Amino acid sequence: MKKGLLIVLSGPSGVGKGTMYSRLLKLLPDLTVSVSVTTRPPRDGEIDGVHYYFVSREKFLEMRDSGMLLESAETVGNFYGTPKAPVLEKLDAGRDVLLEIDVKGARQIKQAYPDCVTVFVLPPSVEELRRRLIGRGTESEEQVGARLALAKSEIEQSGLFDYRVVNEDIDVAVGEVIKIIENSKRSE
Ligand code: 5GP
Repeated sequence: MKKGLLIVLSGPSGVGKGTMYSRLLKLLPDLTVSVSVTTRPPRDGEIDGVHYYFVSREKFLEMRDSGMLLESAETVGNFYGTPKAPVLEKLDAGRDVLLEIDVKGARQIKQAYPDCVTVFVLPPSVEELRRRLIGRGTESEEQVGARLALAKSEIEQSGLFDYRVVNEDIDVAVGEVIKIIENSKRSE
């Protein structure tokens, strides 16, 4: 049976990739998702098992060290990782899987699964990213500073991705990702 396509959407925090991810799932109903594991505490409205599996640091390290994660990364003080078994099962069953993960994780996945398609979402500018992060109101000033510093180094690595999409207008950006997915499936 033909394997599914693994699509990795990455980019700096606050760039809007979470919104793009939700839109892609609505517009492409055949796409499936992976629920990540994190040591970050839940934000208001986030549900365990839906947005993330919220686990302790000990549990996370145990999962990572026993090979249960496809990739993992520490970003601004918290661990994040993709559970391996559910993703591989879906791909084997021919289902496409969309991951929304950070740059370190995306690079690990590309190395382990070169057939995956990696897309980096860029902000129109770093200044615009700062405005979006502050506007979101979920982080302290210090956290915004840390996320922006990380964003700059991530943007420098965007050339390692298969595709780059600027999220200035969300509809246009989502449309570009859909074209990338469709073309990748055609040329498989
Ligand atoms: P947030 O704390 O805002 O939910 O996510 C912070 C960052 O972690 C985002 O860039 C998000 O894409 C990334 N992230 C979420 N899940 C994973 C994962 O499973 N693995 C990796 N490497 N990064 C993740």
